[in-house]
Amino acid sequence: MIYLKSENEIELMRASAQLVSRTHAEIARHVKPGVETGKLDQIAEDYIKKENARPAFKGYGHRNNRFPATLCMSVNEQVVHGFPGEYKLQEGDIVSIDCGVEKDGYFGDSAYTYVVGECDDETMALLKTTMESLYLGIDQAIHGNKIGDISHAIQNHCESNGYGVVRDLVGHGLGRALHEEPSVPNFGKPGRGKRLRSGMTLAIEPMINMGTWKVKTLKDGWTIVTADGSNSAHYEHDVVVREGKAEILSTFEYIEEITKIHIDQNLKYG
Ligand code: MG
Ligand code: MG
Repeated sequence: MIYLKSENEIELMRASAQLVSRTHAEIARHVKPGVETGKLDQIAEDYIKKENARPAFKGYGHRNNRFPATLCMSVNEQVVHGFPGEYKLQEGDIVSIDCGVEKDGYFGDSAYTYVVGECDDETMALLKTTMESLYLGIDQAIHGNKIGDISHAIQNHCESNGYGVVRDLVGHGLGRALHEEPSVPNFGKPGRGKRLRSGMTLAIEPMINMGTWKVKTLKDGWTIVTADGSNSAHYEHDVVVREGKAEILSTFEYIEEITKIHIDQNLKYG
C-alpha cells in the first residue's frame, strides 16, 4: 500500500526533514580528525531531543538485535548502518552519516558522506558522482513517471563513471513509518515499476562503491561493508512527487554552509 500525503501531512514531513538537516549541521561542525564517532552520535541525540523529536534509528530492528545509536556512521569501506563508538575519525577518512527522526508522527531521513579534513581526488570524485546521481534520480520523481525512471537515472550515471551500485539496500517510501512502500532501488530499467503520483513521499538514497557493487554484513548483524574494501558513498534526500518537478524536503545547504565543501560543484575544496 502506497500512502499519498495531503499538503498538511507534507508540512509535517517537511518539519521532520528540516530537523534532520539541521541535526546534520550540528554534526558537521564537529566532523574533524580526532573526533570519536560516538561523540557525534551524542551531539545528534541531544539536539533531536531538545527539538521535541525522537531519534528514529535508535532501537530500530528486531528484538534480539536493535540498532544501538541515533546515527548510522559508516567510515570508508562501510556502506551503511555502521555503529558510532570509540573510533576516532582520521584525516582523509570519509564518513557516511545517516540520520532519522520522528516528530509529530512523521519521519525524516537524510544521509550525507562527509570528508574528514581532505581526502584524495579519487574519493572526492566518487562523492561528487554519487551526489549528482541523487539529483538525477530526484529529477525523475515526477507525476506519471515510474520508479524505474529514478532507478535507471542513478544507475546509469554511476556505472558510466565506473562505480558499483549497491543492490542489497534501496530507497523507500517515507511518512508515518520510516520505511513505507514503494521500494526505490538505485538500479533498474526506465518505464518499469510502480507509477509515481503527486503526493507520494520518497527517501531516495544512492549507495555507491568505488569498486564492486557487492557488499557483506559484519558480525554485528548491521554494518554493511564493500566486499572489496573500497570506499563507499551515500547521499539521501526526502522528496515529494509533484507534477513537473519533485520537491525536496531535506537540504544539504546547512551542512555545506559549515563544511564549505560543495560536493556536487567542485572536485577541489571551495
Ligand atoms: Mg537514511
Ligand atoms: Mg532511508
